[in-house]
Amino acid sequence: MNGYFYAFIFLAMVSASFSKADQESESRYKTFSESSVRKCSMMNIHKPSFNICLSGQATGADLERAQAWSARASLTWFRALKVLDQQVTRTVLFTCKDPHLTITLRPGKGTSHATPSYTTIYLTRPYGTWTHELGHALAGLGDTYVGGTAGSCGGQPASLMCWGAYGPRANPEEWSTLWSDDIQAIQYNYRKVFPGTPAQPEWGSSTDLEAPLQLNDPWPARGEEVYLEDHQVELLRGRASEIDTAEDTESVDL
Ligand SMILES: [Zn+2]
Repeated sequence: MNGYFYAFIFLAMVSASFSKADQESESRYKTFSESSVRKCSMMNIHKPSFNICLSGQATGADLERAQAWSARASLTWFRALKVLDQQVTRTVLFTCKDPHLTITLRPGKGTSHATPSYTTIYLTRPYGTWTHELGHALAGLGDTYVGGTAGSCGGQPASLMCWGAYGPRANPEEWSTLWSDDIQAIQYNYRKVFPGTPAQPEWGSSTDLEAPLQLNDPWPARGEEVYLEDHQVELLRGRASEIDTAEDTESVDL
């Protein structure tokens, strides 16, 4: 056999590995219909502040955590858009006047769920529940798990919208909880509802969107976050909820 033959084999192997890589990165995220996406919190992303209304019931300790986690989860999704468009806001305001996202807090265990711009979250749920439910309410994404069980991804790529609160990227100190599939999904919705050519920040292409987000320094930009406390939560007496990280829990997130 001559050198040309080996070169041919080598090229065939290279092209085979490229097509495999393309297949693996192929995204099969699910989005809401465009009219539903237009009812999601994301539509307010260019306003001077993103207004979150916390309602329901919580102890003081749980309310404090709910503020931190809802702001962090919102900014985690926003960061995936900020890398495309520097107009995306970085200010989160807790107010029930002109809210862009309403979160009803429920003590104890139960089924967390979401519709465009609204979600109900049980306070024993781990952080991944918050980013997952905001994937519905804020980003306009559908679940990608199969058979009604989070984590059963079938032929789908691994993603937050498949894994929910669990899975290999559930720890927010290690991961943003977003996977490539989730990032492609919110960026797809964003381009659909905000057509045009956005101005990308200069740090946009060098940011790892799958890495954890620091709440007080979510991305390299100057400016201050503002947190005003003007919520409608009924304060309960008692201690902080114990977070239920067991996968065989009675609580199911939708
Ligand atoms: Zn869901």
